[in-house]
Parts: sequence; structure tokens; C-alpha cells
Amino acid sequence: MPLLEVSNLCKCHTAGKTLFRAEASLVLRPGQALGITGPSGCGKSTVLEMLALLSKPTNAGRFLLRLPDQNLDLAALWREAPQRLAAIRRRHLGFVHQGGGLYPFLSVRENIHLPLLLNGFEKTPDTNARVEELLDFLGLASVADKLPETLSYGERQRTAIARALVHQPNLVLADEPTSALDPETALAAMRLLVSGARERDSALVVVSHDHALLEKAGIPAVAMQPLAEKKSGEKCYSLVLPAPRSEAPTEKPAAVPALPRWNLPLLHWLALRDFRHERALSFCAVLAFAAALTPLMVLGGLRTGVIATLSQRLLNNPAALAVNPYSSRSYSEKDIAALQALPQVAFVVPQTRTLASTVQVTRPDRPPVSADVLPTATGDPLLERYTSVPPEDGAVITRELARSLPHVAVGQILPLTITRRVNGRPESVVYPMRLHGILPDAADWKAHIYVPSALLLDMERYRDGFAVPKRGWPGAEPSGEQRRYAGFRMYVASLEAVIPVRDELKRRGIDAYTFAREVETIQGLKSALTLVTLLVGGVTLAGMAFSLASLATANVRRKALFFAQGHLMGLSRRELLLLPLLQMGFTALLAASTSLLLYGCAAIILEFTAAPWLENGEHACQLPGAHIAALYAGAFALACLCGLASCRHLLTFRPEEVLRRDA
Ligand code: ADP
Ligand code: MG
Repeated sequence: MPLLEVSNLCKCHTAGKTLFRAEASLVLRPGQALGITGPSGCGKSTVLEMLALLSKPTNAGRFLLRLPDQNLDLAALWREAPQRLAAIRRRHLGFVHQGGGLYPFLSVRENIHLPLLLNGFEKTPDTNARVEELLDFLGLASVADKLPETLSYGERQRTAIARALVHQPNLVLADEPTSALDPETALAAMRLLVSGARERDSALVVVSHDHALLEKAGIPAVAMQPLAEKKSGEKCYSLVLPAPRSEAPTEKPAAVPALPRWNLPLLHWLALRDFRHERALSFCAVLAFAAALTPLMVLGGLRTGVIATLSQRLLNNPAALAVNPYSSRSYSEKDIAALQALPQVAFVVPQTRTLASTVQVTRPDRPPVSADVLPTATGDPLLERYTSVPPEDGAVITRELARSLPHVAVGQILPLTITRRVNGRPESVVYPMRLHGILPDAADWKAHIYVPSALLLDMERYRDGFAVPKRGWPGAEPSGEQRRYAGFRMYVASLEAVIPVRDELKRRGIDAYTFAREVETIQGLKSALTLVTLLVGGVTLAGMAFSLASLATANVRRKALFFAQGHLMGLSRRELLLLPLLQMGFTALLAASTSLLLYGCAAIILEFTAAPWLENGEHACQLPGAHIAALYAGAFALACLCGLASCRHLLTFRPEEVLRRDA
């Protein structure tokens, strides 16, 4: 039963005005060897490239690979599903070319093992034995662990022969496999190729211009013959092997086994080994990438560190969120309600005239102490933060006031004397105040008493000469007119709200005292740092992206033979595309980690320098975990984009041309 049946397999090339045509008709049985000879330029390589499924025939009468379990119509596959040919190359073909095409980053043993791994054979004692057997057979045992660059030409070529035989392909093809060797070594290598193929029952086609060598190696050789020109300027050569015509297969060609799914670990291994082999270049790329990322991280760290520290400091100041009018005015209930309704306002309580809010704390046997009374109400952020809002009959005093009242304790009743003058006569009432809490100096450093706003308003009413019947305070009959307020205490919801609320009050004619300047300074600093980060980041990353993309493209071009050899061994195009992408991924990962390390050092130095200025728990340079994760993701995405730029080149590259050029 023949293995390979080819008739009128034809390839045309046009070079300028001349048309070149090579034709072949031959039949090969398993284990059979065939030599193709002929003068240089007669189309030997062209025929072999067609047999190796590297270049598409211009025309094919018949192009069949008959395997024990299936017949593959290669001509039909070229027409209908050329992407499936990779699986056939991988499993059924072995190729030795003139340059050897060994992977420089794999040892001799690993180079030979590769086709087995590509075909899904794990490293087992059985596959290892197969490799060792070939190493012995080809006399490579002593150099098995060396890299190809340290080998002699002869050893390299024998390694390439071993690699073409190891997976026991049905068909082994060799294009001038020994042309770079001296005659003796060449003959030895050729003999090994022939016997190796015969032992594995593989059919063998060897191209060589050296007819004598083929004869000596016991390979029956056929020369390509020039055909008569049909037109002027047309060169035709044909290779015809007389063979009995066999029946065309009647059954439809069986489906070609699909390529195994992505063999990710193997691709990863190949990409990593190459990356490591070219460590100097890889190191440069990583370092350059890291040089672009590190300043970004440090700027980002400063932005979050310093700004967060300053903002937190401001927030720690209880007055930071306060918006208090400078001067007294007259506000109606409606005005106060309108202020309360402002979206970013968290708390408003109406206030009386300052002059009317001074009281005396009078205790027996002690001199009276004066203090100003301030209104409070449920939700007062200042009191809620430090103590709590006092109930109806309670009050909170400041530490400053408490210092003037020896032995004062929470829960005690303190008498407050409220005085007024009616027709020049002094009058007063005493209000028993229950001490609910004491505010620390950090909250308010003046002598103040915080009371529920209703009490303060009653005090004002009493001072104005009116009676407050529910408290038993005498005076004139209260008039029915609307209540008016002299001011208010206000807190906004966040630091960001300080400036808008201040501006809104200004629009309503109220000048308010705020920490807006400090907030503005911090916000300005934050925007400046953001801008600098964006500017520095934009420029460095754009430059980085261009240089990485060029590096990736240059790498792909430089390693064209690597990719062509991968194609020969049955790596699909998408798998080849993944290799530079994976390497870009390694670059990004290492670069991001390097910049993280450098950033760590910079952060330590910054923290150390800023230490005298920092308080407990504060940082000068701090990058949140989410930002670091985003940085890794960004670096990865950028690297992948750069890798994709190089893939464009891979999509259009022609392996057969690369193999010719680099042979
Ligand atoms: P041989 O291997 O016998 O020396 P080749 O098969 O390499 O010959 O080349 C046969 C002819 O085809 C040569 O004239 C060569 O210039 C031409 N040729 C080969 N490949 C191409 C191609 N891709 N495009 C155009 N012409 C080509
Ligand atoms: Mg050639």
C-alpha cells in the first residue's frame, strides 16, 4: 500500500518576466527512501516544500497521504481547510533543513524531545527512552545537555535529524541536510538519516545536488528533468517517478484530527526558555519598562499619602466642616429651614445674639464664672463626636470652663444665673443645669456651655424682657410676632462641600467663616499632583509603548527562523502568535514587580524624611492595594498591546521564504 501518492503536483513562481514551474509525480511506500537531485535552481526545494505542506501547490492532480486508519486528501485540505494542515505536519511529518533550525534556548535533548511534547506525549520513561535511544544512535549522548551554539555543524545536523525522527513520523523530508558539512561527516549523517528513517518505517525524501553522496548513502536518486519550453521565458522542470497507478480512494477523505487544544504549559515553557536565554535583552526591556512605571507609582503614592494625611488632619479638626457666619443678621424660621434644606449641609441650629448669651455659673462659696452659651440639637456633629447631645434639661460644658469650676462632675446640677435689666433695674433668674458631659479642648478651647437650642432661645426671650411661663420666668407678655434669629451654627457633610456651601451662602448675602482656604490648598495640591502624574505618565508610557512595540517587532523579525521552525513542527499560527504575547506578559510582570520594589524603597526614604512631620498612623507615600493591582493590570494590557503590534508581522510572514532565506 503506498503512503504518499502525488501526480501532477505543480508549483509556479514568477520572477520578473520568467515563469518557473516545477512538477512532480511520485509514489512512496512506507520505509522507502527517495533522493531528488538536479542542478541548482531546478525546483528541488520547491517540490519538497509542497510535500512538507509548507507552500500551497498551484495545481495538484492528486496529493494523497494514506495512513493505516485514514486517507488524507492534502490537495483538498489546502483548498478547504489549510489551518488543519498544522496537525498533519505535527503528527505525520518530520523535516530536516539545511540550517538545522534548532532552538538556541533548548539543550540538544530538549530540542529532540520537543516534537513528542508537541504531539501531547508527556515526559515518561517511555518517551525518555525514545530520546535517549536516538541520542545514542546519532552519537549525541555526550552533548545532550549542551546548547546548540556550542556544537559543531555535524552535531547540530545530527540533532536536527534526531528531532525529525523522534515522533516516528510517516514521512521525513530533508532539504540539503548535509550541504554545510565536510564530505565524510555528510556521508555519515546521511547514512544515519536513512537508517533512522528505515528503522521507524518512515518514508524519506532527501533533496541534494550531490548525486554521488545519495548513491553512497544508498538512497535511490531521481533527477529533475527540464521540460521543453511552452512559451519563451518559461522554465519548466519535472520530477517523474514511474509507478504503478493505484486506485483513487473511493471513500471520502477522513477528517483530519484537530490540533490538540492550546498546549499552554508547553507554549509557556518555550516562551520562558527563550526569554531566559536572551536574558540581557529581556533585562533591558524589563528595566526600561520599570523606569517608566516607577515614577508613576511614587507620584501616585505621594498623591494618596500626603494628600490623605493633610485631608485627615483637616478632618480631625472639628472646625473643618463648620460654616459659621461672621456677623449677626436677622433670620426667619423659613431662612433657617432653607439653609437646612441645602443638599450638602449636615446640620444647622439657629443661634441667638452673642451679647444675649452670656450667663454666670454661680455656686455657693465660690466666685461666679462667666461663660457663653451655644445652641445644640440632635445630630450636632461636634457633640456627637466627643460626648453626646444633652437631653432637654442637660448641658455640655467645655474643658476650659470645667477648669474654672473645681470638683465639677458629670451628673451634677450647676446653677446658671441669667441676668437682665428692666427699666435700669437688674433682675435675674437661676436655671438648674444638669451637667451632661465635658468637651475636650480639641473640640472647643473657649469657656462654652452647649445647651438645647430651646433653652437658649428662652434665655434670649427672658433677656429681652419677656416672660417664659413654662420655666416660671417673669416678664412682659410675649408678643405674637415671628421669632427671629441672629445667626446659626452649621456643619457641612464633607470637606468637598465646604467651598460650594460657602459660595452658596455668599450668593445669599451671608459671609461665613470656613476652612475653605485650607481645603482649597489641599485640593489644589491634589489636582497638581494628578496633573503631574498624568503628564509624566502619559509621556513616559507613550514612549515606553512605542519602544516596547518596536522591540517586540524587531524580536519577531530576528527570530523569524524560530517561528518558521515552529510552523514546520506543526505549531498553528495562533500558537505562534501567543509566544511573543507571553513574552510581553513576562516583561510586564517583571517590570511591574521591579517598579513595586523600587517604589517600596522610594516610599521608605520618603517616610523616613517626612518622619518628624508625620504623626502616628500618617504616611507621606502610600499606594492603596487597588492602585497596585490596577498598575499590574495596566502594565499587562500595555505589554499585550505592544505584543499585538509584533503579531501583525507574524500574521503575514511566510515560513517557506524564511527557511530559504535563513538556510
Ligand atoms: P533548487 O532547490 O533546486 O535550487 P528552488 O526550488 O529553490 O531550486 O528554486 C527554483 C526556482 O524557483 C528558482 O529559480 C527560484 O528563484 C524560484 N523561486 C523559488 N521560490 C520562489 C518564490 N517564493 N518566488 C519566486 N520565485 C521563487
Ligand atoms: Mg534548494
